[in-house]
Amino acid sequence: MDMAIPGHIDPVPVPRPITPRADGRSDLMGLMREDIAALLETAGLDRKQAKLRSKQLFHWIYHRGVTYFDSMTDIAKQMRPWLEERFVIGRPQVVEAQVSSDGTRKWLLRTDDSQEYEMVFIPDADRGTLCISSQVGCTLNCRFCYTGTMRLVRNLTPGEIVGQVMLARDALGEWPKGAMDQLDDEEDAASYTADGRLLTNIVLMGMGEPLYNFDNVRDAMKVVMHGDGLALSKRRITLSTSGVVPLMARCGEEIGVNLAVSLHAVTKEVRDEIVPINRKFGLEELLQACADYPGASNARRITFEYVMLKDKNDTDEDARELVRLIKGYGLPAKVNLIPFNPWPGAIYECSDPERIKRFSDIVFEGGISAPVRTPRGRDIMAACGQLKSASEKKSRAELDRLAEEKQAALG
Ligand code: SAH
Ligand code: SF4
Repeated sequence: MDMAIPGHIDPVPVPRPITPRADGRSDLMGLMREDIAALLETAGLDRKQAKLRSKQLFHWIYHRGVTYFDSMTDIAKQMRPWLEERFVIGRPQVVEAQVSSDGTRKWLLRTDDSQEYEMVFIPDADRGTLCISSQVGCTLNCRFCYTGTMRLVRNLTPGEIVGQVMLARDALGEWPKGAMDQLDDEEDAASYTADGRLLTNIVLMGMGEPLYNFDNVRDAMKVVMHGDGLALSKRRITLSTSGVVPLMARCGEEIGVNLAVSLHAVTKEVRDEIVPINRKFGLEELLQACADYPGASNARRITFEYVMLKDKNDTDEDARELVRLIKGYGLPAKVNLIPFNPWPGAIYECSDPERIKRFSDIVFEGGISAPVRTPRGRDIMAACGQLKSASEKKSRAELDRLAEEKQAALG
């Protein structure tokens, strides 16, 4: 069954929410307890059994990180091969894993139908942030973004989205100690507190526009936040949108995570050019949707991302206008200033460091926090918006052609 991506822009048919596997088994990754129970029932278990087993499976899959049914010690021995024949607990395939000199890690991943996408882990002193992808490619084409030069191939399924978090936990060795064996509760609790963990935060800032894959992103985050599984707090998850206004309220209501908005410009003229979705949903609408965002408060502020582009959006006047807009709408907000990360064929340059500093100072003087984000993982091209394998680089002519196609689709 095909499904259209919600929204007015460039609806693209995408495959059904579970990517079919060559061996015919169903991948349980990304499924909620009720979905697992329904699958078990379809496979022949009675309702009560299905419910009980789904609860056990959910715990083993997401809390313990187990990938083999045979390791599930509280499930009857004769039942385990029955499960193994019908189901798998999948992970994205790893095509390539890189570690930067600053500790940033990047993975090139592949889906069961051979689509490639990327994920990045950024360790800091007080936190570890996993940057995950929501789509392969993107329907939008922000002019400074490398992903924007790709065609949208398809939405990622909940399994492929949750699978990124699972894989990062595998790689960081962060499952409760001895995940393959039975643990007594004391040991379990001791090795499972958030404090000592490397992966503490998730940002949906990899490839794709998460709000154009709303249902799958929501379902995936529900799994990630579930208390019996990965149990990440919604306060530690941030969804970044280029400004899909009609879906912002639902994001707050149905997912409840922190919101980041890729603002990048304060005038219609400049935003129309660099973030073309602005032609559909203008600045006023966008800022009003931010003001109405459910759950935003001084304790949970909206982040405005602002990429620093030389002679494009970086004047003192732009900085003052930014403060004026944020205050005008009474927004509990902070600003992240992102030095532009150049890529081959990009038509912009990064603003000079002094310019960025001055811009930041003006916003700070206006009473709004505006730190400059230090670029991370530059040596492995790990920056947001640059998540694409070098092997897939397109020629300039090809990039121009794709950009034109997308502009035409935007109308
Ligand atoms: N589609 C979503 C989320 C993914 S992009 C969005 O646009 O918000 C994550 C962030 O990286 C966005 O703020 C995006 O504007 C920024 N970004 C993209 N390309 C960049 C580049 N070359 N240099 C710096 N930031 C970039
Ligand atoms: Fe898509 Fe975000 Fe890149 Fe824009 S910045 S093209 S919305 S991924």
